[in-house]
Order: sequence, then C-alpha cells, then structure tokens
Amino acid sequence: MTTLRAAAVTDVGRVRTNNQDWVLATDSLFAVADGMGGHAGGEIASRTAIESLQQAFETDRTSGGLAEAVRRANLAVWERSRADADLRGMGTTLTAAAVVSNQGGDRLALVNVGDSRAYLFQSGELIQLTADHSLVEEMVRSGELTADEAAVHPHRHILTRALGVDPDVDVDTSEVTPKAGDRLLLCSDGLVNEVAESEITGVLTRTENPDDAAHQLVQLARAHGGSDNITVVVVDVVDWERAVPARAPEARAAEAPPSPGPAPSPGDARAVQGEAEHRRFTPRFTFRVALFVLLLIAVLVGAAAVVGWFANRSYYVGLDGNQVTIYHGRPGGFLWFKPRLAEHTGLTTSDVLPSRIDDLRQGTQEPSLSAARAYVSNLAQEARSLPDSPVTTTPAGAAQPAAPAP
Ligand code: MN
Repeated sequence: MTTLRAAAVTDVGRVRTNNQDWVLATDSLFAVADGMGGHAGGEIASRTAIESLQQAFETDRTSGGLAEAVRRANLAVWERSRADADLRGMGTTLTAAAVVSNQGGDRLALVNVGDSRAYLFQSGELIQLTADHSLVEEMVRSGELTADEAAVHPHRHILTRALGVDPDVDVDTSEVTPKAGDRLLLCSDGLVNEVAESEITGVLTRTENPDDAAHQLVQLARAHGGSDNITVVVVDVVDWERAVPARAPEARAAEAPPSPGPAPSPGDARAVQGEAEHRRFTPRFTFRVALFVLLLIAVLVGAAAVVGWFANRSYYVGLDGNQVTIYHGRPGGFLWFKPRLAEHTGLTTSDVLPSRIDDLRQGTQEPSLSAARAYVSNLAQEARSLPDSPVTTTPAGAAQPAAPAP
C-alpha cells in the first residue's frame, strides 16, 4: 500500500510584501504555483490554478487526467484574467505530482508548466524531474549560457511558458515509480534561486521528517536573502505500492542486455526504469534544434553536390577489356561515385602504340567528352603514322586494325 507523509510551507520571504505562491498537499495530490501579475493578479492566478487543478483531477485520477486538469486550470486562469481588467496579464507556474494507479501498482505522475520544480531525492541524490520553461534555461539547453551564468542572469525570471496567458498550454508530463525511503520535493523558484542544490541535498539528507525538511529549506532561503516568495512541499515515501510483478522482467529486458551476473532484483529493474523516465524531460526538440538539424542537412546536401560535381566533372580514356573506351568520371571512381561508360571508341589495344597501353590502363583524364574523343583520334593517328606501329608490324593473319568509328 502506498503511504506518504507530506509537509508544505509557503513564506512571503524578506523582500516582497505579498505572497503570490500557492500550495496544495493532500494525501495524493501535491502542487506548487508561483503567480505573477500586478495588484492581486499573481495571488489570484496561482490560487485559481491550484483550486481548478484539484477539482478537475478529482474527476479523472490518471496521468492523462492530471495533464487535462492542468489544461482546465490554464483555461480557468485565462478566463478569469479576460473577465477582469485588473487581472489582465496575470499568469502562474504550476508544478504538480499525483499518485495514480497503473496495472495494480501506483505511479507518480508529474506535470509542469513554468519554472517551479519537482525533484526526487533518492539514495542521497537529488534528481530534477522537471525542466524549467524559462529563457535562461532554454539558453543553457542550447549551450548559450552555462548553468552558473544562468543562476545569476538578470533575466532568469522570464518564463517561456506559463498558465493563463493563452487559452492553450503545452504541458510537460512524466511518470516515475519511487520506492520507500525516497523524498519528493516541489518548490517555487524562491527556493532554488537562493539555495544551491548541494545545500538542498544536505537538508534532505539531515532531516528526519518532511516537516523539518520543509521548514529548514524555507529558513535557508530566507537566510540567503529571501528575495522572492518561497514555497516548498516535501513528501516522504513511507511505502509504495508496486506494479504487478509481470512488469519487472519486461523492464529488465528493455533496459539491460542479458548479463552473465545474477539477475537484478525487481527493485533494481524498477530503479533503472525510473531513471530512463527522468531523462524523457531532457531531450527537448525545440525550434532551435529543428533549425540546427535543417542547416546541418543543407550543409551535407551541399557538400554531396560539390563532391558529385567533382566526381563527374571529367572524362577519361581507359580500357574495357582490350577496347579503348571513354568513361565519365574519375579513374577508379571517387568516394561512392563509380565511373560510367560514356562510349566505346571502336579502337582496341592493337590499334594504339604499346607505349600508350599503360596510360590507358591507368586512365587518361580529359576535361570533356570532345577532348577525350580528340585524344582517342590522336592515339589512332600516331599509331598509323609511325612505321613501327603495331598496325604495320602486325604479322599477316592478325586482326586488321578496326576501321575508325563510322
Ligand atoms: Mn517566484
């Protein structure tokens, strides 16, 4: 049976005069929202989002239901901002986690819009489960900024996605299967902008219960300046209902090739599975990535065209058996471009001087087909004009020189 123990703390911080964060922690649904917008807008946006999320999730307690609940919450905030001129332009982040049943076991479904975060604290390691939808995080992902530069960037508060600014919203979703002893952390940026992840890890390692952990994290953020509202939810996994055992070998087969060692326990297999799912957040196919791929393809196609042009640029005169032959391309080919037969000349090796045979075997390059033809006719001419040419010294009965091509 899944048993959780949760604590939630929200704090105005030491600089702001109002708290625009909103938080929810029930026995199976946890959420943090960080509102923005003048006057009361921010508070109303975050509260509306979480209340709407909770209500909608009640009607469909599945992963899909949770994502749908975020879209309902988005509409609720958006409609409210349209209805009241004072609330125009308000918006909010929303990060939520919910226990959902799946094939006889439980899964933890996660949804995220904006820059509030979810972390899994597992075996002493803090794993970020969500990707921020902020300008600086996208610059970090595209390599324009380092993580250290992003942490102090003046525009780190600018969001690229938020709830309530448009009737449609793109929701990040994922699932993990925690195990007993894990901790889930949800927080607003007021925590992570003040407290380094190493310090967060320290608090989660040292504290015995979620209440202490949440309070100590908030106190630490205040001690470091508390320049923003700070919201923290800590959920301890006391016990977690596992999926039916049939799932474990499946996961093992997918993740690990047969190994000579002892088969991993079902617990190991699930741990691997869990990690694979965290990674789903990371490789994001952004417009920038698409543009890069397109440019790369364009460069490759251009390079292939140049190579093809170079490979097919010239002709050469070579041998096809004992026949003097004009080829299109380069002797021996170039990369994957094989020479193509352009025309047989009607001459054989016995029609040319023996001293030319080696050149023909190697292939004699000419810049054009007419140049190649001229070279061939010169070959025939020089053989005929020399008294000791193979044509005139060929003993009677040998093949007569082939007549020039009609
Ligand atoms: Mn904030």
